[in-house]
Amino acid sequence: MSQFKDIITEKCPVCGESHVFTQKGNPFLFKMPKMKKECDVCGHKFEKEPGFFYGAMYVSYGLTILEMAPVFLISRIFIESYNATIAIIGICAFLLSTFNFRLSRMIWMYIFDGKKKKQEVHN
Ligand SMILES: [Zn+2]
Repeated sequence: MSQFKDIITEKCPVCGESHVFTQKGNPFLFKMPKMKKECDVCGHKFEKEPGFFYGAMYVSYGLTILEMAPVFLISRIFIESYNATIAIIGICAFLLSTFNFRLSRMIWMYIFDGKKKKQEVHN
């Protein structure tokens, strides 16, 4: 449960102390979130190798599907036009883009490095 909290609050997967992102990003200003290269507290390198975060795109895709399925269903209840539904889905996907960017990278990092924290606690 603490890992879930650390993912949501965007803390380092190893120490859980430092924030991973310096800027949260803003879709209205077309600003992407900015990430630190390594943890301020434990020195853990977030991007293990070049292209490490390509895998986070698949996590982001899954997140977007999970978010847009209810948007689709709810909009289909109230709106008959498919074009309007697609426009609503596009707007929602755009508004959630920076959130999904950050959350998908956090989940991706915790898939690979989240267990290191547990091992250090038990040793
Ligand atoms: Zn750390």
